[in-house]
Amino acid sequence: MAERTWETIESGTPDPMPFMHPVMKKNYGKWVFHNHPKPGVLYHRAENGDEIWTVKAGTQRQMDHYTIRKLADIADQFADGFVRFTTRSNIEYMVSDKNKVEPLIKTLTDNGFPVGGTANSVSMIAHTQGWLHCDIPGTDASGAVKALMDELYHEFTHCEMPNRVKMSTSCCEINCGGQADIAIVIQHTKPPKINHDLVANVCERPSVVARCPVAAIRPALVNGKPSLEVDEKKCICCGACFPPCPPMQINDPEHSKFAIWVGGKNANARAKPTFHKLVAAGLPNNPPRWPEVSQVVKKILNVYKDDAHSWERLSDWVERIGWPAFFEKTGLPFTKYHIDNWRGSRSSLNASTHIRF
Ligand code: SF4
Ligand code: SF4
Repeated sequence: MAERTWETIESGTPDPMPFMHPVMKKNYGKWVFHNHPKPGVLYHRAENGDEIWTVKAGTQRQMDHYTIRKLADIADQFADGFVRFTTRSNIEYMVSDKNKVEPLIKTLTDNGFPVGGTANSVSMIAHTQGWLHCDIPGTDASGAVKALMDELYHEFTHCEMPNRVKMSTSCCEINCGGQADIAIVIQHTKPPKINHDLVANVCERPSVVARCPVAAIRPALVNGKPSLEVDEKKCICCGACFPPCPPMQINDPEHSKFAIWVGGKNANARAKPTFHKLVAAGLPNNPPRWPEVSQVVKKILNVYKDDAHSWERLSDWVERIGWPAFFEKTGLPFTKYHIDNWRGSRSSLNASTHIRF
């Protein structure tokens, strides 16, 4: 049978073998242990004594080709040309020669790529596309991440947190992003404004009606033209109607805000996975540095760093001290927006597959 080549596969996960460092390929499934000699570096030993070091550095994720060429040149010089990117947009170099590890770290640092993000550090923030690529963002996730990571540089390059801190940023309320110890998510606070002149030309109305999770959208005739209307009392301002129907504009410089959620975790380690919970809402969407968001995130991180026991993830810490103590210690105001546990969702959520008219 002809060997499958990665070039011909256009979907799914590509075969990792062609991209793997020869030492990793040779010892696939035969690694005995790994340890963490210093921030940003992992050491792996194989059964036959082969060794390899992983050196992790932060990148800005959205890079011009000069930057990518620079990173590739560094790989040619120190890592036999092999790299990989992590889900948090860190770059990892695999180095089989111990003598190249420190020169690689120096070269990366001198070129502005901080080495770190391993073990109990604050790793790079997993984030979404923002204004550059997506057609529905209410903010620029990449920009907010850059501004925040500039302020968390020390926490990336040092391992001083009680446990790993994974963060995410999402530039709409409904799509990318994900569970994280601290998640920064856009928050719309007003229902969409409908441009009735465009709806009939641009939107497939039944799909838009079906999109709404609380059945707040109905077809309507406006000025003799087929359009849509929103029951604003029901609308939860989620923004789900905007992607299939851009004339239902929900992004707004004043009313699209930021919210911070805390305590999410995908891993099964030590405790079961958890959903993050809302802890701060209505923060201004304030480019280019989003100082109000940074301030709240840093406040949470500082209190967690001082108060949590070793190896407690953020969710474990909150579980131990309780949410009232979390709000007390962080000084974040506890408001009526924090207590909706969706008990009413059976009657309000649009759980049916039928399209309603
Ligand atoms: S989070 Fe939403 S707006 Fe941002 S890139 Fe993903 S789909 Fe687009
Ligand atoms: S989809 Fe979301 S934003 Fe649009 S009308 Fe329904 S609840 Fe409101």
